[in-house]
Amino acid sequence: MPRAEFHHVETWVFDLDNTLYPPQMRLFDQIERRMTDWVMTRLNVSRDRADHLRRHYWALYGTTLAGLMHEHAIEPGDYLAAVHDIDFSALTPDPDLAAAIAALPGRRIVYTNADTPYAHKVLAARGLSGLFDAVYGVEHAGYRPKPQREAFETVFAQDGLTPTRAAMFEDDARNLAAPHAIGLRTVHVAPAAEPAPHIHHHTSDLAAFLWPLARR
Ligand SMILES: [Mg+2]
Repeated sequence: MPRAEFHHVETWVFDLDNTLYPPQMRLFDQIERRMTDWVMTRLNVSRDRADHLRRHYWALYGTTLAGLMHEHAIEPGDYLAAVHDIDFSALTPDPDLAAAIAALPGRRIVYTNADTPYAHKVLAARGLSGLFDAVYGVEHAGYRPKPQREAFETVFAQDGLTPTRAAMFEDDARNLAAPHAIGLRTVHVAPAAEPAPHIHHHTSDLAAFLWPLARR
């Protein structure tokens, strides 16, 4: 039981996609399809080439958007609106997760590589609206994405959180390296564990993990 390892935590930082909803809801499949479509149209390449570039930029730059901005100087607002224009009906409310998050002692924030208009739609579809003190998107880091350390530092400075008194919950293990390096407690939220020195805890059930950390 990790409760003692979280008693110092006063700010709880949550990733959004595949963290505040399970990957089985497959919302990201829709976004990836729109990313590929966007790359096909804007760069005038085949579907196979667009799919390759989407993955390649994600691996190399942290997000497809960061690669498109770096290598093609694209304007991020248009891209973000297009790829996030999806059907949210795959998401269902999660009252148990909402109650567990509401019971955490301290500030609760969301930090996503998507943008905040999209983040608010996801939170609404999951029944998690109003539970967070702040929601930060890639626009708050000047479109520099996680896992870059400067992105975390920019967002955390805006929030005013103390890294050594915060915990980060994330499904992408890459995105826990910088938080670990600057002092956050790290929790990998994913179906399978990927043990690494920068991951303190793993859970496949976020609500079950949070309940023992609730207000006492
Ligand atoms: Mg995620």
